[in-house]
Amino acid sequence: MESPQAVPEHRSASRSEGHLCGAKLKNAKEMPIGSAITTPGSAAEYKTGSWRNYRPIHDKAKCTNCLFCWLYCPEGCVKVKDGKFVEFDYDYCKGCGICAEECPVKEKAIKMVEEGK
Ligand code: SF4
Ligand code: SF4
Repeated sequence: MESPQAVPEHRSASRSEGHLCGAKLKNAKEMPIGSAITTPGSAAEYKTGSWRNYRPIHDKAKCTNCLFCWLYCPEGCVKVKDGKFVEFDYDYCKGCGICAEECPVKEKAIKMVEEGK
C-alpha cells in the first residue's frame, strides 16, 4: 500500500523547479496569463459553463422542491421561483455534481450526464 507521504510523480517537482504542466518556468512572471478577473463585478462576463465535462439534468417528476440543490450549488446556478426549482443556469454551471450528490430523493431528481451525450 502507498504510504500517505508518497507524492505522485507528476507532482513531485519542488516549487523552485517551476514546473507547470511540463513547461519549465524561471519565475512566476513567466506564468502564462489565464482567465484573470481584472475589474470588480466582471465575473459575469466569463461563462464558466464552457469548462464543464458533465451537466446536471433535472427530473421534475422526482423533484420534491426541497431546494437543497439551490442551497449547496457553489456557483448559484440553480434558478428558483416561488419556492420551486425552475432550471439550471448552464452558462455558469461547472458540472461539479454537488447538486446531484446532495439531492436527498432516493432515486435522485438530478442526474449528471457527460457533456455532448
Ligand atoms: S453541477 Fe455544480 S455548478 Fe452545476 S448546478 Fe450542480 S452544484 Fe451547481
Ligand atoms: S435537491 Fe433534488 S428534490 Fe430537492 S429541489 Fe433539488 S432537484 Fe428537487
